[in-house]
Formats: sequence, structure tokens, C-alpha cells
Amino acid sequence: MPAKKLPIKKVATKVATKVATQAATKVANKKEDVGTPLSVVIRRRIEAQKARFHANDNISAFIKPGELEGLVDEVAQKMQAVLESLVIDTQSDHNTKNTSQRVAKMFVKEVFNGRYVEQPTLTKFPNVSRLNELMIIGPITVRSACSHHLCPIMGRVWIGVLPSKASALIGLSKYSRLTEWVMCRPQIQEEAVVELADMLEKKIKPTGVAIVMEADHFCMQWRGVKDRDSKMINSVMRGAFLKDPNLRREFLSLLEKR
Ligand SMILES: [Zn+2]
Repeated sequence: MPAKKLPIKKVATKVATKVATQAATKVANKKEDVGTPLSVVIRRRIEAQKARFHANDNISAFIKPGELEGLVDEVAQKMQAVLESLVIDTQSDHNTKNTSQRVAKMFVKEVFNGRYVEQPTLTKFPNVSRLNELMIIGPITVRSACSHHLCPIMGRVWIGVLPSKASALIGLSKYSRLTEWVMCRPQIQEEAVVELADMLEKKIKPTGVAIVMEADHFCMQWRGVKDRDSKMINSVMRGAFLKDPNLRREFLSLLEKR
């Protein structure tokens, strides 16, 4: 049986009303936002929800589709002003002509992208074989930046998981994607590993989770003390890894053999 058709006139009115409502919303948004930098518009949305927007927070819930491009443009304009204040002739020096645009794109779409995009979707599998043996994932190559100087942090992460019989397991590649999502934000290493551990605990509900991160900090190498060989190593131990010294030893000894 064919679907009941609405009389043509009714359909037309419905469409017209929808278009009018959309247009009205757009106008309302525009009126309020005319001349306001996009970053301020986004910031207002965050503040209205009393949410935090530190350098290592993800703010994707407050960004509407298509707005990232606008943010890139805004950052580029301000980056151009920075280059000018550094007294660099971006007009004659062809190497720096589009640097502001390139840096803006790099910040928003690449190295700090973990602030602006949603968490990668994780397919979870029930632990059908009831695995409860230690799993180690790594080394996962990580790239981040310190929130003090925006200098690169390049390192490696190892994740140890002791699943419980009730744990949801995630695919191996998802550990890397989740790690990358957390790392692609300006932050300090100590907080990054804690955030990663929190997230894995929440997702997998394991008996224990352990994370070790070893990284070169370019704020020690490129600037500051210029110490090329110093590395920072952090670890987080949760659940069984905290309570059971043998498990902890097993995890750490396997890393030493890497
Ligand atoms: Zn630094």
C-alpha cells in the first residue's frame, strides 16, 4: 500500500516553515556573533556549561561542524601578528610568506588536534575467552608538546592491562589511537599518563592498568639547559599493578627486554 500522501499545499507549507525557522536561527546566531572572533564564540559556549578548557582538555563538544576551518583562519591571523612582532619580513622573505597559515593548520589540525576532535570510536569485544593474563601493548610512538613552551615531546608509551573476566576488550590498534588522541594536546607528561590511565580504566574496566612513558623533551634540548640526553620517564600503576608487586615486576621486566 502506498504511503499516505500529504496534500501538496500542506507539504509546501511544512517545508517553508522549516526553512524559515532555520533562517531565523541563523540570523539569531549571526546577530549575536557578528564581529566576534570564533574563539570567543566557542569560549562562551564552554563557559555557559561551566566546563574547563585547559590546554590538555578536549573541547570538541563545543565546536560545530565546519568551525575548525574558521579557527585555523583566526589562529593564522594572530600568528601573522606574532611573526610581524618578531620583525620578520614575511612579504619579501618567501620562506615565511605562508608560515602563519601553515603553523595555524599544524596546531589545529595536527599537533593539537586531540583538543578539537571527538574521541576515536572504540569497538569493544566481550572477554569471551575470559582472558586474565597480563597484556602489554607498546612501544607506541607518541608526539606531544609541553604546555609551558609548546616545545615538542617525543616519546614512547607502554600500556599494561590485566583484564578481568568482565572486561570489555578493545582492538590493539585502538590503544594507539586513543594514546595519540590524548597526546595531541599541549600538556605535561605527568598529567598525560594519568589521563590515559583514567580513560583506559573507564573503557576497559580491567583488574589493573599500568602505563610507562619515556620521552625527550625539546624544552630541555632545544632551549633551556640544552641537555640532549635527558629523558623523562613516568609511570602510573592502577589496581592490581599497585597491589601486586610481582605483577608490577613482571610488567617492568618485560619492558626492560624491549
Ligand atoms: Zn617546556
